[in-house]
Amino acid sequence: MSSEVAVCRKCRQAGEKLFLKGARCRTAKCPIESKTPSPGQHGKKPLARKLSEYGKQLREKQKVKLMYGVLEKQFRRFFRLASKYKGASGEILLSLLERRLDNVLFRLKMAFSRDQARQFIVHGHVSVNGKRVKSPSYLVGINDIISLTETTLKNKEFVEGVIDKRMNIGVKVPEWLELQKKERKGVVLRLPVRSDISVPIEERLIVELYSK
Ligand code: SF4
Repeated sequence: MSSEVAVCRKCRQAGEKLFLKGARCRTAKCPIESKTPSPGQHGKKPLARKLSEYGKQLREKQKVKLMYGVLEKQFRRFFRLASKYKGASGEILLSLLERRLDNVLFRLKMAFSRDQARQFIVHGHVSVNGKRVKSPSYLVGINDIISLTETTLKNKEFVEGVIDKRMNIGVKVPEWLELQKKERKGVVLRLPVRSDISVPIEERLIVELYSK
């Protein structure tokens, strides 16, 4: 399965648009817009289901997990971390997930998807403040500088063919980040807040689920 199809499959699983690909998501090419049957669906109409409150809570959690590409164990760890901060746990959870290095690379348009960003990080292409970071779940902080490593920058084919191409797509970088295209780097201007995330998420349902 190509990575493009795999990314769109997550939206199909969630049953709604998660905006995982940037510009393409807002065009008629989005399979959810064009109502292309999902792989294995063979043109059948999805069944309309009335979800219980618990079902809605689970669906919302699944949506966020699919969006950020995190598994249950890690999601719980993030939730526990969010609960330690003062304030609305749901909003803090989303802010923490936004601060993950794989998400930041995707938001900076340096990777086509969070999955691809994770690959770049794990393969050692990414630095934070000049130091190589190989953990996709690394949490960025204010004034952090995210860039490609020296070795990666020397690989012109990769930088020009993949990174530069992606950075030139017409998607807005969120206001909490600054992209410095020429230098192929990004700066964290401030921590992300709830209004920086445009995908509709009812985070209170996730908090309710974990508060049981
Ligand atoms: Fe694919 Fe984006 Fe549409 Fe999701 S919203 S199905 S990622 S094009």
